[in-house]
Amino acid sequence: MTGSASHTRAYLDHNATAPVRAGVIVAVEEALRAGGNPSSVHAEGRAAKRRVSDARDAVAALLGATADGVVFTASGTEANNLAIKGSGRPRVLVSAIEHPAVAKVCDDAQVIDVDENGVVRLDGLADLLAASDTPALVSVMLANNETGVIQPIAEIARLAHDHGALMHTDAVQAAGKIAVDIKALGVDMLSVSAHKIGGPSGVGALVLAPGTDIAAQIRGGGQEQGRRAGTENIAGIAGFGAAASEAKAELDAFAELAVLRDRLEAKILKACPDAVIYGKDAPRLANTTYVSMPGVASETQVMAFDLAGFSVSAGSACSSGKVAAGPVLAAMGAANATDVIRVSLGVKTKESEVDAFFQAWAALYTRKASDAKASAA
Ligand code: PLP
Repeated sequence: MTGSASHTRAYLDHNATAPVRAGVIVAVEEALRAGGNPSSVHAEGRAAKRRVSDARDAVAALLGATADGVVFTASGTEANNLAIKGSGRPRVLVSAIEHPAVAKVCDDAQVIDVDENGVVRLDGLADLLAASDTPALVSVMLANNETGVIQPIAEIARLAHDHGALMHTDAVQAAGKIAVDIKALGVDMLSVSAHKIGGPSGVGALVLAPGTDIAAQIRGGGQEQGRRAGTENIAGIAGFGAAASEAKAELDAFAELAVLRDRLEAKILKACPDAVIYGKDAPRLANTTYVSMPGVASETQVMAFDLAGFSVSAGSACSSGKVAAGPVLAAMGAANATDVIRVSLGVKTKESEVDAFFQAWAALYTRKASDAKASAA
């Protein structure tokens, strides 16, 4: 398989960014060609406004939200910043496994612990909430970008509300992968990003439950009902709308990916019983495997798989010459796990690609194990 002429690349890094959908390219091109400013009253302006409004409906429909709760932003990162800063709450509680787009927004955020599966400890959250009367915002992600572990957001939101806190969830990795309904989750705010669901990068949205409002962080014109100034990224938003509609229609197909994921994990564990699959015992996204190859550094694996034609990503990073597990693994009690990679599938991933990836995984593991034996001899 490795380097064989018949093998084309397999993209197994959908959690980093999903391939842009064909329908999205059409929607983006149409919007670019049509032009117009949604704030203009003439025909071109009205057409552009309609395009944005259709996309708003599609994004709202994906998330069980009302269209007027959708605030388009320039990324999932901006949506998270808008939620946290725009809430005006002086106390912010975030989980230990948040993406930097939440973790780094507020320097003095308090951190909610997780268990060894990377699931938020509700008793820890309850203690933090009870410890102060200062009005708080709780921000916990719906699905983790590394492990795919799904958090009990409805319970967390109930707990937050019982203590008078506002609740935000970063649903960037969950949207389009599991059914997401802002009402069923009971959250006040939810962030999403177009490029994780096959839309263009550089577009996101903060979605507000009815009755929730936020203070604009980018100020200027009255766009997005005064919640986010700046002429809309019409083409990007149109692409986001197209991606949202297609992703909604594909939710069942996405859930089916669990079959491929479980097959891959079973093969890996059979070939290497010491491999650890992080978050395996918790509810997880159907497409995500976060797995160690004992003794083989994440970066080495990512490079070897890239050469063999597979795109995956590393669970640890080398900073200032020192390899360390990322904060998510550290929070799960695996601070020394520097041999973890993330494999994330998409609905177009073929069984043959997953099987070929396993062959490459086993070949690398066998080669590294025999190298280690030879150097020890
Ligand atoms: N939140 C999570 C959980 C993510 O995985 C990402 C992207 O990796 C983001 C936020 C940031 O989204 P964006 O790339 O649109 O800024």
